[in-house]
Amino acid sequence: METVKEYFGCNVFDDREMKANLPAKVYQSLKKTIDEGATLDVSVANIVAEAMKEWALKKGATHYTHWFQPLTGITAEKHDSFISPSPDGGVIMEFSGKELIKGEPDASSFPTGGIRATFEARGYTTWDPTSYAFIKGKTLCIPTAFCAYGGQALDKKTPLLRSMEALNTQALRILRLFGNDTAKRVTSSVGPEQEYFLITKEMYDKRLDLRMSGRTLFGAKAPKGQEMDDHYFGIIKPRVQAYMEELNRELWKLGILAKTEHNEVAPSQHELAPIYTTTNVGTDHNQLTMEIMQKIALKHGLVCLLHEKPFAGVNGSGKHNNWSISTDEGQNLLSPGATPYENAQFLLFLCAVIKAVDDYQDLLRLSVATAGNDHRLGANEAPPAVVSMFLGDELQGVLDAIENDTPYAGAEKTKIQLGVDVLPLFSRDTTDRNRTSPFAFTGNKFEFRMLGSSNSIACANIMLNAAVAESLKIYADRLEGVGDFETALHEMIKKTIKDHKRIMFNGNGYDDAWIAEAEKRGLSNYKTTADCMPHLLDEKNVKMLTSHKVFTIEEMQSRTEIMLENYCKSVTIEANTMIQMAKTQIIPAIEKYAMDVAAGANTKKQLNSSIACGYESSLVSKLSEYSDQAYVQTAELEKAVAELSEAKDIIEESAMIRDIVLPKMEALRSSCDAAEELTAKSYWPFPTYSDLLFGV
Ligand code: ADP
Ligand code: MG
Repeated sequence: METVKEYFGCNVFDDREMKANLPAKVYQSLKKTIDEGATLDVSVANIVAEAMKEWALKKGATHYTHWFQPLTGITAEKHDSFISPSPDGGVIMEFSGKELIKGEPDASSFPTGGIRATFEARGYTTWDPTSYAFIKGKTLCIPTAFCAYGGQALDKKTPLLRSMEALNTQALRILRLFGNDTAKRVTSSVGPEQEYFLITKEMYDKRLDLRMSGRTLFGAKAPKGQEMDDHYFGIIKPRVQAYMEELNRELWKLGILAKTEHNEVAPSQHELAPIYTTTNVGTDHNQLTMEIMQKIALKHGLVCLLHEKPFAGVNGSGKHNNWSISTDEGQNLLSPGATPYENAQFLLFLCAVIKAVDDYQDLLRLSVATAGNDHRLGANEAPPAVVSMFLGDELQGVLDAIENDTPYAGAEKTKIQLGVDVLPLFSRDTTDRNRTSPFAFTGNKFEFRMLGSSNSIACANIMLNAAVAESLKIYADRLEGVGDFETALHEMIKKTIKDHKRIMFNGNGYDDAWIAEAEKRGLSNYKTTADCMPHLLDEKNVKMLTSHKVFTIEEMQSRTEIMLENYCKSVTIEANTMIQMAKTQIIPAIEKYAMDVAAGANTKKQLNSSIACGYESSLVSKLSEYSDQAYVQTAELEKAVAELSEAKDIIEESAMIRDIVLPKMEALRSSCDAAEELTAKSYWPFPTYSDLLFGV
């Protein structure tokens, strides 16, 4: 059997393959494009395409596709075969530079939020050479950006690449101020920790709610949940182990650095974390990871649930976005340095993040907003919907000392003079203790913990990169050409700490007292997608994102529309699923059971009229009460869904979803769940929470 080292990346046209299969000159030219963003020559593209094709054919590929990330949040691909007819009646296998660089999928069915009317079906995809092409099945996949004919981005990759560019530009300005003339590029990196549930396919198939919406819309709690804390880091069951092994193998073949795997808090919940890479590649890899997780699960008779809240009453699934920025020379800009000068630079980058998170807390919040994630945030299992930052005691101590010009205990009781004192190295131990913070410093990176498990990480990283670019721009504008650099720097860091103190919170983020305190501090608390999404179009947000050319105003309008549409559509699907399940499965089951119990009582009475049948009578009354309630609530929910068509726009519709539809769904669920607890198991029409959560 091949070793991991031998097969790692075998399905990727990576640097090793490029080097081996391209003429040296072409390789260098392509490398320059990849590393420095230089534009690619068409003649180069032709040679690359030919080499890529030959490599792919050797691997058994027959097709190629431009692989892209439309605003559906998942990936899209349309396969074209390499064949081209030859005059002798046979075929030759062809792939040109033009086909590599540009594709024109019929884009009319992808969400555009009004950017392009569907009759103008044309959109185009363009090759992103910074993310390697790979083979999936028999298809060569070329990572691409997806735009409308007018150039407006219709995907998540384009703005992500733009945000990386903005961050690079501004960060390099800062580095030059600190005398670094050699770094050529600054890149943001990400390592997303992915949580998921595994349940059996057999049970999954029996639940319409899981199949339609990815989560259980009904279900009384199992007698046992996660209260024993026995699942987290627990022994991995053989069936799950076999799944993880095959998953790793497939991910490694695709060059995805799957690293850590363990059981999570809830029963049947697990986590997979890769080693970090650039935010662009990391995003592509996370999309692929989610796809492959689901595919491999099926091979093992399992279903991988990526929904944020598949089960009520136990933890949902999130995705921790570990994020940092570093230079092409390997310097992590969020790592405290060894010299006083490096420390000053570190503090400036740290402050840029603090300022960014405070100024654009709304953007961070809305970058993770989906109907699914609304169930997690603030539910005492994930950070609240309020964005705050955790720095750890040591680092907080340093910032406090700078702000107040007071001595810092850690640095020999002296006042901190930037550029003179050496800061302590912040170990993971002191920075990683707070697991309740939405945005925590973890020694040399930040961990943004609000993302939902099914979210594309693109959105969060777009906002992070852009907001930090904006802070850095403000700093660079102030510092470039200033007479006394060190004093100006010190003052600016001090001012940032003073101005943005409110965003820093080192206590328990799950505590209600914090929510009250956060409100006093003026931090925003957008509980639902409907609340936060419209703020994408707030003037300050439009100004910042357009000035860094991350989005055009038109793209921002379309995204607001699409995200709200997604929210409304997914909840509407859930509501319709509930209506169908209640009408055709749950109420009939309750009725059948009640009738059988009643019939039993009658039989008993016929045998002996003095038997009181108190149990039967009370049970049948309760069951009938619940089925009546459920019947009425179903009708009310149907009415609420029908009334959505009267909303004058998507904002109003999303408010109706939040205020009317969701509460009615809750009400219907609670009657049905109560009935489930009284109904004999053999009558219940689908697997219960105990079956699902403890079935693997
Ligand atoms: P945990 O948060 O569960 O304790 P780790 O701290 O070991 O786990 O790592 C979490 C993730 O952070 C991993 O995916 C790791 O690759 C990633 N990571 C480490 N350094 C960086 C960095 N400089 N930039 C982005 N991600 C990073
Ligand atoms: Mg983590």
